[in-house]
Amino acid sequence: MTYTYPQLDTIQVDTVVNEINHYGLSNGLVMYKDLENLKNETAVAPVTLYPTILPKENFEGAVLIQKAYNELYANILLDDSNWLDGVIKSISEFDSDFTGKLYGLYLRFINDGVYKKQNKELGIFRNDFLLHENEDKSCQLKEVEFNTISVSFGALSSKVSALHHFLNENGHYKGQVSSSFDSKHLDIPISQSLASIASNIKLGVETFEVQQSISKSIVLFVVQPNERNVFDQRLIEYELFNKYKIKSKRITIDEVDKFINKKNDSYLRYNDDVISVVYFRSCYSPNDFKFEKSWDNRLFLETSLAIKAPSLKMQLAGSKKIQQLVTTPETLKRFIPNEDTCNNLLSTFVKIYPLDDSAEGRYAKNLIKQNNPDVLCKFVLKPQREGGGNNIYKSDIHPFLTQNIPNENDWAAYILMELINAQPTKGNVILRNNELHNVDILSELGIFGTVLIDTHTKKIEHNSYDGWLLRSKVSDSNEGGVAAGFGCVDSIALM
Ligand code: ADP
Ligand code: MG
Ligand code: MG
Repeated sequence: MTYTYPQLDTIQVDTVVNEINHYGLSNGLVMYKDLENLKNETAVAPVTLYPTILPKENFEGAVLIQKAYNELYANILLDDSNWLDGVIKSISEFDSDFTGKLYGLYLRFINDGVYKKQNKELGIFRNDFLLHENEDKSCQLKEVEFNTISVSFGALSSKVSALHHFLNENGHYKGQVSSSFDSKHLDIPISQSLASIASNIKLGVETFEVQQSISKSIVLFVVQPNERNVFDQRLIEYELFNKYKIKSKRITIDEVDKFINKKNDSYLRYNDDVISVVYFRSCYSPNDFKFEKSWDNRLFLETSLAIKAPSLKMQLAGSKKIQQLVTTPETLKRFIPNEDTCNNLLSTFVKIYPLDDSAEGRYAKNLIKQNNPDVLCKFVLKPQREGGGNNIYKSDIHPFLTQNIPNENDWAAYILMELINAQPTKGNVILRNNELHNVDILSELGIFGTVLIDTHTKKIEHNSYDGWLLRSKVSDSNEGGVAAGFGCVDSIALM
């Protein structure tokens, strides 16, 4: 059974758009449009009209391997040899503005003798993949990056996949080629990411309450001011309340000193409510630390008994540099003892080079210096940053490094990654602000996963796969930020 996108006439398309608007507004599949110019105006989040086709085998492969990825990052955190600290220390020298500052906070946290420390940590992760097409046209999912802080779209992904499922079941996709779009044969899964993320935050709350022998606590969402994607966060908050009666408070990092207090018992409190879990949807980029006090506030939260999602150390484990290092088999083996698991993980990596003084690093630096367009068009250069819009592509790599960073030693703050050969798909349509865009799209699959670890007992107490996200972008834009305006939330039709 092959799946082709429905060929709807204009009246049918209008009906689908109307259905999407109603469903989106009724179910919270929404986003602020533009906070600066159109205060508080919401719209249905940018979405595709149809789910995008993905081979079942590739999708299931990504789902199956998530727990191994979770284990990898958990073991990096639990490792006794301070390997992570050493790597981050070395990167800090080159990236003093951000990694260096976070690492500085982490050192102050370790050496802080005043407050009691929490030994449980929550890692709410999203592992991102693109479908790489080989020369023989066979396809494999290859990892783009592993995110350990502020992973977004868990809630909207559940909503958009349920929307597409609803549209299909209700016959709205039956167009002129309805025989190839028989709803009975279409497998449109619904992502469980919203329910799963909320249930994992609840696990953090319960763990804290049992550990501290208290009966009530709340969750603190640390968010950005003027967040456009706020409903993706609030849906988690409402799920926590409606399902588990767990209350949450939302504040920005700069409001911490105003609203949060900490007494000698090392509990964080919002008024009189004890905070069990601090869930970060902010603090992943230097822009989130506008003032000196922003850094102090981040440390204030870390040096407390609340369970952090994530801790500073777990955030640092998500650095692009760590991703580069674990793609080498020797390093991977340190953290993943099982050989089959190791090989499965290796099959999802593309080559990533360091730009340091190692043999590989010197090789990669020479590649760049030779400035051969046929070679450099296969690479992307990444700094130690999160949140999109930071990468340097192809022919921009040589001028960027040689003109901006004259001291070659400082290139070590970057990694050089092979580009994944993802092929655009035709036929789907992006709906954004009520406008339809009939464009070729590139889709990135994110798989959510969670760990709860204990840094004293060195045990992984919980390891789960938590649903998925498909984000699609216009195929000629290099980066796919949905909130930034290049992309949209999509869902999957398996075949
Ligand atoms: P960030 O942490 O800022 O999201 P990413 O590593 O995810 O950084 O890169 C941003 C975007 O750049 C990705 O969503 C993807 O579209 C593109 N990209 C990153 N790495 C690759 C790669 N190796 N091949 C192809 N595209 C890539
Ligand atoms: Mg990222
Ligand atoms: Mg990314």
